Amino acid sequence: RFITFEGIDGAGKSTHIAFVADYLRQRGVQLVSSREPGGTSLGEKLREILLHEKMHLETEALLMFASRREHIAQVIAPALARGEWVISDRFSDASFAYQGGGRGMDLRKMEQLEAWVHPELQPDLTLLFDVPLEVARARLDATRELDKFEQEQAEFFAATRNEYLRRAAQFPARFRIIDSTQSIAAIQVELAHLLDALLE
Ligand code: C5P
Repeated sequence: RFITFEGIDGAGKSTHIAFVADYLRQRGVQLVSSREPGGTSLGEKLREILLHEKMHLETEALLMFASRREHIAQVIAPALARGEWVISDRFSDASFAYQGGGRGMDLRKMEQLEAWVHPELQPDLTLLFDVPLEVARARLDATRELDKFEQEQAEFFAATRNEYLRRAAQFPARFRIIDSTQSIAAIQVELAHLLDALLE
């Protein structure tokens, strides 16, 4: 099984990944926990560049998919072939949301990249942690220094969030939208239910 975690910065995604990994491991699931951009040695180098260098929008999208191509080849596909589960902090929906929705790259080009890089592979479950923008910003400002992407404007995050919600509506079979304004405990109950269904 392949599970991806998505959401705008400050939606609380990272808090819940550790919970899901623990929950599954306690139930005997062999799993690989990874992230994008990153997840491989090359991918982590690309992540450093992506997070700190200014570049053309399409260069950014291509590097995201380059990182993803390597991640699939080195980590995701081999783990799934061994019968293990993979959980990834972001996958292609993030490219649609950030480079597509947020920054305005042509979504048809994004679809072409997706069809090129992973024509067969899609997550079995995509957890979209969704919060209104004001909540996300308040959380980010309180916790740490913002990176290049996080410093962008409110309209950027609004467009990013809208594209996530559009993808969720387009692919309802694999998406679950988690109302991330709930308490952590309430979200964990919801996650446990979703995971139990997958484990059956
Ligand atoms: O998920 P994480 O916070 O580690 O992502 C690092 C940064 O990269 C975030 O600020 C996120 O908004 C950005 N990002 C992006 N486009 C992607 C994936 C991540 O702009 N496709």
